[in-house]
Amino acid sequence: MSRPPVIAAPRRPSRKIMVGDVAVGGDAPVSVQSMTITKTADVEGTLSQIYALAGGGADIVRCTCNESEAAEGLARIVPRSPVPIVADVHFHYEMALAALEAGVHCLRLNPGNLRKPEEIKLVANEAKDRGVPIRVGVNAGSLHPQLYKKHGGATPEALVESAMMELAYFDEVDFHDVKISVKASNVPLMIEAYRQLADTVDHPLHLGVTEAGPPPGGLLKATAGIATLLAEGIGDTIRYSLTADPVEEARAGRQLLEALGLRERKGLDLIACPSCGRAEIDVIGVAKTAQEAMVDRDLPIQVAVMGCVVNGRGEAREADLGIAAGRGRGHLFIKGKIVRVVPEDEMVEALVAEAERLAAEGIEARLAAADAGAEAAAEADRQALLEDRGGDVNQSESRVELIRKQLSHQEGAQ
Ligand code: SF4
Repeated sequence: MSRPPVIAAPRRPSRKIMVGDVAVGGDAPVSVQSMTITKTADVEGTLSQIYALAGGGADIVRCTCNESEAAEGLARIVPRSPVPIVADVHFHYEMALAALEAGVHCLRLNPGNLRKPEEIKLVANEAKDRGVPIRVGVNAGSLHPQLYKKHGGATPEALVESAMMELAYFDEVDFHDVKISVKASNVPLMIEAYRQLADTVDHPLHLGVTEAGPPPGGLLKATAGIATLLAEGIGDTIRYSLTADPVEEARAGRQLLEALGLRERKGLDLIACPSCGRAEIDVIGVAKTAQEAMVDRDLPIQVAVMGCVVNGRGEAREADLGIAAGRGRGHLFIKGKIVRVVPEDEMVEALVAEAERLAAEGIEARLAAADAGAEAAAEADRQALLEDRGGDVNQSESRVELIRKQLSHQEGAQ
């Protein structure tokens, strides 16, 4: 329904690879990834989390493959998963081979801890034979020791060189089905590493700020890094690495892409005024209740919760649906037009019910179904509030009067 404008920077051209049935790179939509935090050997628990992640907005899910029981779990998970599965492999190339045998749709290898060229090439050859792509997942925290020494730390150049070393091994066995990440927990470092990488290769890039931490700080750090690059046209798939329920990661990734206009709105976009002394309700509480009531419903609309009827409707007139409070009542509006006036204690209920109908029937139909007299009742509330509070909402007229007095006084003095 409401769609944000598309960001201006042209997308960096990249080759397209397939992770299962999800295209990454080229003209494919930027995809959202997340990672399970269950033991992969726990098949039912992991599958239940994968379904939750897919419901939250993940297009691709990664699971660790750190032991033989995990690889066996993957063999049972992959056929039942609603989204492609990536096996995360560190240290043991045998786990990469086992994950391929389990039928995973992609491998993630960390060049910092899987370093023997013959093992890397063996895995790449096997992936090539099976048509499975690999993500070269460079991480500043586990950089190849030689590169750390050579560059005097985990610099952007060191991260890029680590990826290039891995690509050179892949080239030797003619394997090119690759995406790359150069993650760091330091946001400026991560941004610069991706910029350099984007100038060096044409592989699709997987963006992330690693170990971003718990929300809200983790969300801010991840968004600062990922959004900056996406706004520059860099990035083909993203992951928020949060210390939180991974469903939050998936939701955050999806919301970011929707906010930047890179993906169609799939879920609710709840906006709310920040509240102020003019608020007639507990805006924070009402917005939270409305969010909780609607978050799990697939309502691809923008909904506004506004604290007062004096300014609320005007400030949120672009929202598909909104509610503003005043004089013990809630004014429900669609695209700025009042459609119903409800008692204050029924505001959230009325908002949720109208959101469902709006998503199902569309804006025109719901405007046509507006209550007769709702607009007049709302205007009466608004005027009464203005009178209660002294009429001039922003003291504009009294300010204008003061300015006139000051100017005429100055002119008289000249
Ligand atoms: S809508 Fe009303 S309550 Fe909310 S910030 Fe604006 S003036 Fe304040």
